[in-house]
Amino acid sequence: MRRSEKCLSALERRGVSLDDLIECARFLHGPYEDIKDSTIASVLVDILDKREVANALLCAIELDELCERDLFSDKALQEKIMYDDGLFGVDEVLAYGICNIYGSIALTNFGYIDKVKPGIIGKLNERKEGVCNTFLDDIVGALAASAASRMAHEKGS
Ligand code: MG
Repeated sequence: MRRSEKCLSALERRGVSLDDLIECARFLHGPYEDIKDSTIASVLVDILDKREVANALLCAIELDELCERDLFSDKALQEKIMYDDGLFGVDEVLAYGICNIYGSIALTNFGYIDKVKPGIIGKLNERKEGVCNTFLDDIVGALAASAASRMAHEKGS
C-alpha cells in the first residue's frame, strides 16, 4: 500500500476527506491562482507519499486515539491533550515537522490557517465528549500549508 493511501484511510477514519484537505489548501492558495481540484489533489497525494509526512500524520492520529481510549500511562499528560490545552504546544511542533520540508511559505501559511481555522479544521477543533483531535487539526493545517507552498513555488519563477 502506498504511504498516501495509508494516510488517506487513517484520515477518513478520523472524519477528514481528501476534499476537506483540498478545500483548506484552496483557502490558502486560491487567491493567487485559479487551480483545479485535481491539481491540488495530486499535490496533496505527493506530500502524503513522503515518509516524514506520513510518519508525522500517523503518529498524530495514534496519539489522539490513545487519548480517546484512555491508554496514556501519564493521566495528567493525557488530560492536557484530551482537552487541547492551549499551552501544550507539542501538537503544533509535530506539524512543523511537515511544514519544515516545504519552506518558509509553508510555515507562515500554517500560522495563518491555525488562527483562522477554515472548513474541517474548525470542525475538528469543536469540543466533543470522548473525541480527541488535538494533534490531527494541526496536521491537516500543515498539509494544506505545505500544498499551498508547493503550488506557490511551482507557479513562481
Ligand atoms: Mg491542535
